[in-house]
Amino acid sequence: MEKKIAVIKGDGIGPDVVEQAMAVLDRVSEKHGHKFVYTEVLAGGASLDKYGVPLTDETVKVCKASDAVLLGAMGGPKWDTLPGNLRPEAGLLSIRNQLGLFANLRPAVMYQELSGACPLKESVTGSEGLDFVVVRELTGGAYFGKRDTGSDENGMWAYDTMFYTENEIRRIVRVGFELAMKRDKRLTSVDKANVLDSSRLWRKVTLEVAKDYPEVRLNHLYVDNCAMQLVINPRQFDVIVTENLFGDIISDESSMITGSIGMLPSASMGSTSFGMYEPIHGSAPDIAGQDKANPIATILSVAMMLKLSFGLDDEAAEIEAAVKKVLEEGYRTGDIMSEGKTLVGTNEMGRLIRDRI
Ligand code: ATP
Ligand code: MG
Repeated sequence: MEKKIAVIKGDGIGPDVVEQAMAVLDRVSEKHGHKFVYTEVLAGGASLDKYGVPLTDETVKVCKASDAVLLGAMGGPKWDTLPGNLRPEAGLLSIRNQLGLFANLRPAVMYQELSGACPLKESVTGSEGLDFVVVRELTGGAYFGKRDTGSDENGMWAYDTMFYTENEIRRIVRVGFELAMKRDKRLTSVDKANVLDSSRLWRKVTLEVAKDYPEVRLNHLYVDNCAMQLVINPRQFDVIVTENLFGDIISDESSMITGSIGMLPSASMGSTSFGMYEPIHGSAPDIAGQDKANPIATILSVAMMLKLSFGLDDEAAEIEAAVKKVLEEGYRTGDIMSEGKTLVGTNEMGRLIRDRI
C-alpha cells in the first residue's frame, strides 16, 4: 500500500519524537512492503520564524493532498509574547478547522507496568491498567460561538454562546458509536442536559443516532458527574463522547489519571479516513534536543494513523505490542522512570521499539 503523509515536526521536542515515529513507520513499511511518502512542511513556531505566520496556505495545501498528517508539537516560550492570532497555537486551531477535523480521539491507556504513575489509589484503577477513549467535538460549541465584550453603567460584561446544529451533533456522536462498535460496545454521552438547551439537543440527537446502533449500550452522564466518576471509578468507561468545552476538560482529566503524559497519542478526524495524528503533550522546551523526550506518545499516534486512516489494523497492533514489550523488559525514558528500571534516551527508546516490530 502506498500512502502520502504530511509531516509537521513542529517545535521543542517535536522533531525529536517525530523522527522516532517516522523510523517506526519505515520499519513497518519495510516489513510489510508498504510505501509511505513523506512531505515535510512547517507550522507553529517554526513557520513564524521563517514566514512570519504560524500557518501558510502551502502547508494546508500539502496536508490536504496527503492521506494523513503527522504532527509533533507547536509552541514555546520564544513565541509566548506574540498577540493571540500570531501565536503558534493559532496555527493549530486554524489547521484543524481548514482540514475539517471535527472529532478529537484521545485514548486514555494506562499500562499495567506503569500503574505506579497513576495518582489514584490502586483500589480504584486495579493493577490491570485502564483503557478508554474520549471523543471530543472540536469545531463547535462555546469556543466557536458568538461572543462579545462591552460595558455599560454597571461595569463590564462578556458572553460566549454554546451553539450546535443537529448535524454537528449527529456526526460527532456517530464517531462515538462507530468507535464503540470496534471496542467494547459501550458509549457514555456526556452533557449538561439538566441546564443547557444545547445539551438537551445533544441528548435528543444522541438518542436518535442510537437507533442505528442497537448493539451499543448507551448511557448519559452530566459532565459534573462524569468528572467525579473518572476519579471514583474510571474503569467503568469504554468510549466517552462529548462536546468541545466539556471534552477539553474531560480529556485532560482522563490523560492525567494515567499519570504519563509522554505516553498518550491522539487523532483528529473529519468525515473521511483522513486524519491528523499527534501526541497529547506539548513542545516541552525544557528538554528539547537533549535526547530525553519520550517518543512513545508519537509512536502510538502513528499506530492510530495506520489503524484509522489506512485500515492497517495488524500493523498498528504490532507497534502497540512492541511498545508493551519494551515496557515489560524494563526500559524507561526519564518521565516514566522508576527504581530498578533501565533509563534510556529518545533515540534508544525508538530503536528498542523498532527492533521488536
Ligand atoms: P503546551 O502549552 O505546548 O501544551 P505545556 O507547557 O502545557 O505545553 P508540555 O509541553 O506538554 O506542557 O510539557 C509539560 C512538561 O511535561 C514538560 O516540561 C516536560 O518536562 C514533560 N513532558 C511533556 N512531554 C514529554 C515527553 N514526551 N517526554 C518527557 N517529558 C515530557
Ligand atoms: Mg499544555
